[in-house]
This record gives sequence, structure tokens and C-alpha cells, in this order.
Amino acid sequence: MELVFATHNQNKLKEIQKLVPEGIKLLSLYDIGCHEDIPETATNLAGNAKIKADYVTRKYQLPCFADDTGLLVNVLNGEPGVYSARYAGEKNDANANMDKLLDKLSLYADRTACFNTIIALNLNGIDETTFFSGAVKGQIIREKRGNLGFGYDPIFVPDGHEETFAELSIEIKNNISHRGKAFMKLIDHLKSIHTKE
Ligand code: IMP
Repeated sequence: MELVFATHNQNKLKEIQKLVPEGIKLLSLYDIGCHEDIPETATNLAGNAKIKADYVTRKYQLPCFADDTGLLVNVLNGEPGVYSARYAGEKNDANANMDKLLDKLSLYADRTACFNTIIALNLNGIDETTFFSGAVKGQIIREKRGNLGFGYDPIFVPDGHEETFAELSIEIKNNISHRGKAFMKLIDHLKSIHTKE
């Protein structure tokens, strides 16, 4: 089957591409000629993921999934959360976002945080969205390290590791990450539908 991943983020595409099993052809928004910036107007991750998946499935008549991710910092009551992309302004500037977070956290000893991903899957354009979630706990360190990955990766050390996500290979990140876990649940779901048919 063909399955669209509704993202313009090349890093996310690269990560997911590595997890796609045989029998599924992953299409990007670029592959289907969708160049619009789909506005994320919901106030929670599931709402934003659903807006993107539903939009593409209805307009292009193709099965589609979309993700939305937030970084939740415990001592900041879950900030930046659903506003992670625009934490330091509308531009989604990763360095500015990390600088703002490091600044806010500078006085705190508790550096625990968690990445949460919600994936919305819409197979037929009707209002039938299925959701999958994934999370990974870790620590926000005091300075950026590593140049792999994207977003907040250089300041996040997942539990059980010494390296930041920006110092770990895509394969290792995928194995333990919020997005990797949510996507593997989606794959299990598709397999279970397939075996029932
Ligand atoms: P979105 O899911 O693309 O809306 O991402 C929200 C914010 O979280 C953006 O600033 C992303 O760069 C950041 N983000 C999403 N996924 C990851 C990740 O796997 N690692 C680090 N930052 C991420």
C-alpha cells in the first residue's frame, strides 16, 4: 500500500523511512505535490496531528498519517509542550528554542523532561482517525551537544544513555524515541487490519 507521511520535515521523513516495512511505500508531501503549510491550530498534539492527516487524506484521496510532538519539561509544568515549535517565536528556530529553554532552566536542579508524540492515521478520508502515542523520558542538559537529529535533540539525553539524541544514530534514536514507538504501533495496527482481511 501507499501511505503518505504529512510532514515537510526532512529529518522526520528520514527517521520514519528507516522503520517502514516491506509492502508499504512511504510517500512524502513533496511526492504527492502538496506544498501547502497546513496550519496547526489545535491546542493539543492529537488535534494538530488529526488536522494534518485529515486534510491530506480528504484532498488527495490517499491514506495518510501525521505526527505532532511536544517536549514537556517537568519543572516548567509541561512547557513548551504543544508550543514546542514556536517556543521562542513563530519561526521554529531550533537554536533559539533551545536557548530559551536552557535560560529558563538555568536555576533548576530538576532537569527531567519527556518527548511525547501523537500520530493520527486516516485511511479513507472519512472522519475515522486512529491515534498512536509514544514517549521517551530523559534529562535536559546544560549545553548543546551533537549535530545529528533536529529540534531539541542536542539538549536531550534519553534515560539509559549518556549521549544526547543529536549524538545517537537514527537507528538507536528510532529504537527508543517517542516517534519511533508511536510509528511502530501504527505498523502493528496496519498488520492487524491486513490479517483480518
Ligand atoms: P512538530 O511535531 O514538528 O510540530 O514539532 C514540534 C517541535 O518539537 C519542533 O520545534 C520540533 O523541532 C521539535 N521536535 C519534534 N520532534 C523532535 C525530535 O525527535 N527531537 C527533537 N525535537 C523534536
